[in-house]
Amino acid sequence: MAEPASTSSAPGDSSVAGRSLLAQASDAWVSEAVAHLQAMLRMRTVNPPGNEAVVIDHVAGALRAAGLEPQVFEVAPGRSNLVCRIAGHGPEGPLLLASHADVVEAEAESWRRDPFGGEIADGCVWGRGAVDMKGKIAMDLAAMLAMARAGVRPRRDVVMLVVADEEAGCTLGSRWMVENHPDLVRAEICLNEVGGFTMHLLGVRYYPIQVAEKGVCWLRLTFRGEPGHGSLPRPDSAPVRLASAVAKLGTTRLPVHLSPESMRFVEALAAAQPGPVALALRGLNQPLLSTTILDLGVRDPGQKGGLDAILRNTVSPTVIRAGHKTNVIPGVATVELDGRTVPGQSSADLVREVRALVGDDFEVEMLEDLDPVTTSCDTPEYRLLCDVIRRHDPTGIPVPWLIPGFTDAKFYARLGTRCYGFMPLMLPEGMSFASMFHGHDERVPLDGYRWGLRVHLDAIARLALDAEAR
Ligand SMILES: [Zn+2]
Repeated sequence: MAEPASTSSAPGDSSVAGRSLLAQASDAWVSEAVAHLQAMLRMRTVNPPGNEAVVIDHVAGALRAAGLEPQVFEVAPGRSNLVCRIAGHGPEGPLLLASHADVVEAEAESWRRDPFGGEIADGCVWGRGAVDMKGKIAMDLAAMLAMARAGVRPRRDVVMLVVADEEAGCTLGSRWMVENHPDLVRAEICLNEVGGFTMHLLGVRYYPIQVAEKGVCWLRLTFRGEPGHGSLPRPDSAPVRLASAVAKLGTTRLPVHLSPESMRFVEALAAAQPGPVALALRGLNQPLLSTTILDLGVRDPGQKGGLDAILRNTVSPTVIRAGHKTNVIPGVATVELDGRTVPGQSSADLVREVRALVGDDFEVEMLEDLDPVTTSCDTPEYRLLCDVIRRHDPTGIPVPWLIPGFTDAKFYARLGTRCYGFMPLMLPEGMSFASMFHGHDERVPLDGYRWGLRVHLDAIARLALDAEAR
């Protein structure tokens, strides 16, 4: 373990260290974090091709300027990962502050602002990656800089990790780090993306904290049939049978499988609502009622889709291929399905459900198979994250969330790490995280982001330094 930098408190006196850390959270510190966010939003790290190295170099430079020693791993040209550790003095396992530097593409013509401009307008910082997830890179960086400048030695190691390639399956990023440098990224607790933001629902301000994510089961179905001339139609041709299967898969909901993770989320939502609404919400936890209640009771299509996806396995037909000449009936047609499994279900279970719906006269190939990830919320750190949210928004309701998508937590969890989605961000009513995530006009409100920076630093101080919030 490295010697501590000059410390403003004796090792072990962590509440003093925590106070000195939180004293760093000045307006200048906030402005610096926003400037880092703007700079990173201007860097085009759309994956593919990624080019995350430009963000990694920016972060590495800022960490070095504060006297820290980041390690950079170039995995492929222009694709790199960064790890930076502040050594702690106690026996607890490390706290991992995790993020990814790549973003998904942006259709500039559908945005109100340049997706790669990093502009501040209408009280927001705009750009692809503002919520997913350069906003958290800047938060993690700000926390590391505050710790370095305060000269505190934390109770446990605090490790900042920024990886490439999350948006295209994690191969060069989290998966590569876990497989090639497990000792550098192994942690007890990880704060990662997708959670900690405000979700307005039926007049209540919730803060979902991710404690679980669905599994991934990507499939390719191959249909075969007699090829032939296009002038002689064949109702049993490969493309026709594929189309009928796709139509069924796209319009039929698979069976409900309630998991403890989805039920806990629903119960936490219900507990903050008045009687009749709470009763209806709790109906979602009754397998025979849940679909009807969703269809009759939830009007917002985004909220309905989000709730529906945590109650059952899902498949979305995405890539369809067949034929290359108008007058030739092809003998082969394939469709790729993006399948997701709820906790307690396996990819084999999902394949059984697909076959039960559309038969078995096709071949199935498994393209990706990742189990669901779940973390207990009966942990001191989960309670602490909820407490930090409530201190900074006394009428806000933190809730444990199962997300329909997946994150780098899939790989960090393999090392035994307890992973939470926690990028605190206060959003006004009408600005929805879900619609900005991979959507148009991705942005963070400046006030809500400033709030989030302080909440994040407070959480880290208390997880690693036992600080009292101020
Ligand atoms: Zn992301």
